[in-house]
Amino acid sequence: MSKKRVVIAGMGFGGLRAAKALSGSDFELIMIDRNNYHLFQPLLYQVATAGLEQEAIAYPLRGLTRRWPGSSFLLAEISGIDLEGKNVLTDAGPVPYDYLVIAAGSRTNFFGMESVGAHSFDLKRLDQAEDLRNHILLSFEHASREADPVRKAALLTFVIVGGGPTGVEFAGALRELIVHVLSKDHPEVSADETRIILVEAADSLLTAMPINLRQYACQKLHAMGVEVLLESRVVGATAESVHLHGGTVLSSHTLIWSAGVSAATLAGHLEGVERAAGGRIVVQPDLSIKEHPEVFVVGDIACTLKDGMPLPMMAPVAIQQGSYAARMICAREQGRSLPPFHYFDKGSMATIGRSSAVATAADFTVRGYIAWIAWLLLHLYYLIGFRNRLVVMMNWTYAYWFQERQVRLITSKKRRAASVL
Ligand SMILES: Cc1cc2nc3c(=O)[nH]c(=O)nc-3n(C[C@H](O)[C@H](O)[C@H](O)COP(=O)(O)OP(=O)(O)OC[C@H]3O[C@@H](n4cnc5c(N)ncnc54)[C@H](O)[C@@H]3O)c2cc1C
Repeated sequence: MSKKRVVIAGMGFGGLRAAKALSGSDFELIMIDRNNYHLFQPLLYQVATAGLEQEAIAYPLRGLTRRWPGSSFLLAEISGIDLEGKNVLTDAGPVPYDYLVIAAGSRTNFFGMESVGAHSFDLKRLDQAEDLRNHILLSFEHASREADPVRKAALLTFVIVGGGPTGVEFAGALRELIVHVLSKDHPEVSADETRIILVEAADSLLTAMPINLRQYACQKLHAMGVEVLLESRVVGATAESVHLHGGTVLSSHTLIWSAGVSAATLAGHLEGVERAAGGRIVVQPDLSIKEHPEVFVVGDIACTLKDGMPLPMMAPVAIQQGSYAARMICAREQGRSLPPFHYFDKGSMATIGRSSAVATAADFTVRGYIAWIAWLLLHLYYLIGFRNRLVVMMNWTYAYWFQERQVRLITSKKRRAASVL
């Protein structure tokens, strides 16, 4: 008798965990992704700020299939799912399945602001992180030979939108890159001439964290020289300016958007499936789609409620759901049932800069050096691949002792549509 086939659509955190749990089981496992690597998105900002090389935060998926008997990988763009015919539709042809795990993640949400989408950098993909690094380094190259002080100031003004963990981490890392490295590389540019402005619509940063940690993060960034604009909203942008609600215009050639995500486009290509805010697919308590017990949806693309609220779009949610979907598939095959999915919230953390981070778990909060060490260790633990862990650890150690960033290479001078450089 031939083995039943499980297809995993998307090999991010959720898909990878489901695949790992099913590897070596009595299923044929097919993993599909548009990229031939798993990407560790939480460290993208370090690639963009010249702290890490891009290979260090990605892991080749064929390296996994080689180790997992009965599994294979298909590099393909998924255009839709034929739920009735049980086929994943891809640009490499249809892929039939017995069980399907949809784990296609999310995409950046500009909330309909086309000018912001056209003129900002977002951080979802490796090429975007490299693009942003090139742009930051090029901004300094141009600023160092700019005679017009107004244009020089705009080149050296970096606006980051979104005061969540990504915005906070990016702001801190960019400030350190400027103070410790770029202002020394460019004697014509003083760190005091640069501005990093972090714009947040709410009345505090890191709104999911306890108040003492929010205040700490804000004070710390302030002390580092980052300007924090709370209760401010970006409403538009050009290549040379950022427009805030209320009429304020910031002259800046760099706008970084980390203020919202919605479900991956694949969610919109599933016919007859209920969707919630942000286009996320509404799932049953066992993470399956209504009337399709063989299809599970996990991670950012799924809308799962806890206490009436959707679970956050975070890696731990995707990981726990991927693992649960794998167990559900095994249980279904054996005619067993499992209790509904339950998310165990282990807390959250964000690093602000060298030796400084905030972390919370249950009622416990920690900040400063201890939180920073915990952040480092946890990220190393979750990175895939021994080489990646080693390279990242060496880079961090080097950066800590020498306050240097080795990866400050401009790999392309191609001008982005968003950029006026
Ligand atoms: C910059 C940044 C920083 C973050 N920092 C943190 C953090 O500090 N802590 C935290 O918990 N979370 C963080 N997150 C969120 C976290 O990365 C996501 O919640 C997590 O990746 C979701 O996992 P997922 O499996 O649902 O999707 P993803 O990990 O996004 O994986 C989706 C996969 O599906 C593939 N895919 C999508 N559509 C298609 C298609 N049509 N065809 C083929 N393949 C497709 C993609 O290539 C990708 O490999 C961060 C996210 C970003 C962008």
